[in-house]
Amino acid sequence: MPKRVCVIGAGAAGLAAAKHSIAKGLEVEVFEQTNSVGGTWVYSEQTGCHSSMYQDLKTNLPKEVMQFRDVPFQADLPSFLTHEDVLDYLQEFSRGLPINFNQTVESVERSADKWKVITHHGTGISEQLFDIVFVCNGHYFEPNNPYKENNFEGTLIHSHDYRRAKDYLDKEVIVIGAGPSGIDIALQLSATARKITLISQKATYPTLPDNITQISQHVKKVLAEGCETDDGTVIRADTIIVCTGYFYKYPFFNDDVLRVKENNQLVSPIFEHVVHAEYPDSLFFIGLNLVTITFPLFEYQVKMALAFATGGAEIPDKKVLIDYERNQIEHQKTRGLETRFYHLLQSEQWEYLARIARLGNFDEWPYMKTIENITQYLHEQRKSNVIGYKNINFKLSDDGMDYEVV
Ligand code: FAD
Repeated sequence: MPKRVCVIGAGAAGLAAAKHSIAKGLEVEVFEQTNSVGGTWVYSEQTGCHSSMYQDLKTNLPKEVMQFRDVPFQADLPSFLTHEDVLDYLQEFSRGLPINFNQTVESVERSADKWKVITHHGTGISEQLFDIVFVCNGHYFEPNNPYKENNFEGTLIHSHDYRRAKDYLDKEVIVIGAGPSGIDIALQLSATARKITLISQKATYPTLPDNITQISQHVKKVLAEGCETDDGTVIRADTIIVCTGYFYKYPFFNDDVLRVKENNQLVSPIFEHVVHAEYPDSLFFIGLNLVTITFPLFEYQVKMALAFATGGAEIPDKKVLIDYERNQIEHQKTRGLETRFYHLLQSEQWEYLARIARLGNFDEWPYMKTIENITQYLHEQRKSNVIGYKNINFKLSDDGMDYEVV
């Protein structure tokens, strides 16, 4: 009997998990709470849904770096894509996969040597047993908003609920946080809002449009009229957009299986950001990392997980799996990172990918070095030219081993 695999979520990570599991001859069921695939890439005018997508988003990574192995995006698309382009790509990628739509996973618990998965759907609940569970529910849906409690007289939203720049015509806006969403939203607003103040602990961008002022401060509190920073400066605004990231959330696990620690930023106990330390051959998390390439990383993680689940690689000793978390916390400290950045890889992602390929006993993609070179080139471009870097186009050589900027 083939092992039965449950995949929670039909975003990019879940689709990769399903596809590779089927290729291994496993029996797969994907559960997706909405009526479509794509997760983050499903744009909705309504707020409060799973996706944080906004109308005019262009990807912050080019298609050459985002694509799954041997599944290129359409050749005539530019390097930086719209959310519609990415959704089309994922819909195509998902063809033929066994996806149960409108089914929310409510509970995952151990039952003898299996996982009992309870799902909720329109007509009731279902219960099934699985050998392997891939958790692919995303981590950009539960806003981390430290300024939720406030007496601000204008409008305060988290970036999760930002949809379009034209809603802010002629407004004075404060954007708190200059991570990928904060800077992107500030740049979009520069076309419509009168004045934007971008407040972040580090002011990183040398050139910004004239109507964006960047302030290197921490927001101490939100007042009725705007924000007060740690140095006592008060900035007035009509609107505040809080871009301070998201919490990890797994409502379907009990604490005895999974905990999310450090202000909901550290998923525990997980080895190499993928493998549950207590159930290393049956419970896996795909896409937990921050500041990385995405779809190729998901595929690497899925391949390592499947090697652990099907005997294709040796699972490290229990002590190594358990000690990983403590060692990783220490390691992040040596990088000058607080524990809340536990899952952040950034410059270490290439070493990480090579390591999980070794652990999973599979060959690295031959053209991963090209992906690394493009990503590093872009990192520099983004720093020096955050306004214009998305106009760059790349052309890969036929074998994918090289690229040029066209
Ligand atoms: P998601 O896409 O979030 O998918 C999770 C799925 O799980 C959803 O369909 C959800 O409905 C489902 N689900 C959740 N809970 C349950 C449950 N209990 N039961 C059943 N189903 C459930 N990455 C890039 O590579 N390039 C970019 O330019 C880029 N831009 C981004 C812009 C924004 C605004 C955001 C928020 C993210 C961006 N990302 C980008 C990262 C992006 O999240 C990843 O590319 C990728 O889409 C994540 O896929 P995922 O499958 O992990 O999660």
